Amino acid sequence: MKFSGFRVAKEALTGHKGWKPLWRNPEPQKSYDIVIVGGGGHGLATAYYLASRFGQSNIAVLEKNWLGSGNTGRNTTIIRSNYLLPGNQPFYEMSMKLWETQEQDLNFNTMVSQRSIINLAHTDGQRDAFRRRGNAMHLSGADGELLSRNDLRGLLPFLKFDNARFPIKGGLIQKRAGTARHDAVAWGYARAADIYGVDLIQGCEVTGLRRDKGRMVGVETSRGYIGAKKVGVAVAGSSSRVMAMAGIRLPIESHVLQAFVSEGLKPTLPGVITFGAGHFYVSQSDKGGLVFGGDIDGYNSYAQRGGLPVVEDVVEGGTALMPMIGRARLLRSWGGVVDMSMDGSPIIDRTEIDGLYFNGGWCYGGFKATPASGYAFAHLLATDRPHETAAAYRMDRFARGYIIDEKGAGAQPNLH
Ligand SMILES: Cc1cc2nc3c(=O)[nH]c(=O)nc-3n(C[C@H](O)[C@H](O)[C@H](O)COP(=O)(O)OP(=O)(O)OC[C@H]3O[C@@H](n4cnc5c(N)ncnc54)[C@H](O)[C@@H]3O)c2cc1C
Repeated sequence: MKFSGFRVAKEALTGHKGWKPLWRNPEPQKSYDIVIVGGGGHGLATAYYLASRFGQSNIAVLEKNWLGSGNTGRNTTIIRSNYLLPGNQPFYEMSMKLWETQEQDLNFNTMVSQRSIINLAHTDGQRDAFRRRGNAMHLSGADGELLSRNDLRGLLPFLKFDNARFPIKGGLIQKRAGTARHDAVAWGYARAADIYGVDLIQGCEVTGLRRDKGRMVGVETSRGYIGAKKVGVAVAGSSSRVMAMAGIRLPIESHVLQAFVSEGLKPTLPGVITFGAGHFYVSQSDKGGLVFGGDIDGYNSYAQRGGLPVVEDVVEGGTALMPMIGRARLLRSWGGVVDMSMDGSPIIDRTEIDGLYFNGGWCYGGFKATPASGYAFAHLLATDRPHETAAAYRMDRFARGYIIDEKGAGAQPNLH
């Protein structure tokens, strides 16, 4: 079903009776060429690119709950490509470019809004680091500009500029960054994959990875055994649990990350703002709510809800940066289980088991990576070679010492 202005007008005049479900609800077949485990944005994008760009067919996505029920439907929707390191920057810039054409590509309104991101600097050293990061961004073709304190006063007059502990000294803006509607991203990829014949099977939990002589042959699921020549795992916070089914131990910890939304306000924030002296980031949704978040909860967990100490910490960061946020009432908060890798960067790689591939370790930031992650994982599954922009995301980089640690924070998940 094509979406168009004409179609919307026709449906409006005929009682909206012609709309069909966005995807089929098929029964699982006995076997597939490629099975993707996890119906989040990454799994769905992988299936879509496999079918649309790499000529693959006979593909299924297996999702234990409903499509987009994991972190894809729980995040604060920030998209950006303002990275420093050569292992990361070209990958996230490719993702940004795919965001820019996504709606036309999928024929679906994913509400990509390039409303900018501003990272605030509170020390001279931090401002110098932003200058360096901005230069690295330019080298891979991304945009970035340094803003002075005066520029910021004009753009964001409600910030607390003269906070004695955290004075605002300047910032780095990426104007092409912004937000996208997270659920719509899952729905858009699901619909487009379905059009290519991908089977999207919801309520189908993978409970075992079956191997024969060191090769994948299929998956055990809550809906029976399904054969597969290749299996790609993209389950974010459940990565350790699913990969343990094949005896693989990952350099990944699962932690809760919380998000918060205020009541709807008149347009206040022009784009995304991040506080550089603590962990706090905020934007305003199209409905008017302030959408914000901060640190992960500091203990390992698979629960999709967090604790009060982090709520307090996030609110402290928010009120130190923009005291007026204290006047807004909180409408909702929730948690997702994030896959924190030991260097803060992801893994997209084959495993030691023939036919088993892994995509995970997205930490705080996998939503913005959704298009590039799907594309690079599809490339790997189809060709058995890493995509050039994801060549650094190898499983063995921790053993080899080639870590991609943007913040130089070391193997401490809470610091990435
Ligand atoms: C509160 C919060 C805020 C965030 N904010 C941002 C942000 O602003 N910007 C950004 O870039 N990133 C952000 N992220 C991170 C981002 O949401 C994730 O990295 C990204 O959505 C991961 O996508 P995914 O498809 O890999 O995982 P998910 O969307 O979690 O999908 C994985 C799916 O696998 C399924 N699954 C698990 N186990 C099994 C099994 N055994 N069998 C079958 N299916 C299974 C799950 O049900 C789930 O649907 C945030 C995350 C959270 C929690």
